Amino acid sequence: MEDCLFCSIVSGAIPSKKVYEDDLCLAFRDINPLAPTHVLVIPKEHIASCAELSEEHEALIGHIFTVIAKLAKELGLKNGFRVVSNSGVDAGQTVGHLHFHVLAGKPMNAKMV
Ligand code: AMP
Ligand code: ZN
Repeated sequence: MEDCLFCSIVSGAIPSKKVYEDDLCLAFRDINPLAPTHVLVIPKEHIASCAELSEEHEALIGHIFTVIAKLAKELGLKNGFRVVSNSGVDAGQTVGHLHFHVLAGKPMNAKMV
């Protein structure tokens, strides 16, 4: 989609620090890391947020979580990691292309809000 930052990263028009790529998804380092490891995992297809998901996306989302589990092993996230996806204004979503934050490398507050 035109004017979408993460679609531009998928196309290569905007550079990223890629850590994983396959036909369906891409993982790259967050430009403003909030933890020692902060990776974003995104579908290559433009989907605005979790709110736009439907049955047709079930295999894709399952695949993304399998990729996250493999990445966690590859990146050595032995002490655990957190997966977050912000959807909409109240959640603080700033990029309108579905993405899963993978955060690790320090103890995190157990509270979600
Ligand atoms: P959210 O606020 O949940 O929509 O997350 C968007 C994330 O994208 C933020 O953590 C940003 O730091 C990150 N981000 C924005 N631009 C870039 C970029 N060019 N490369 C990598 N990460 C980015
Ligand atoms: Zn997009």
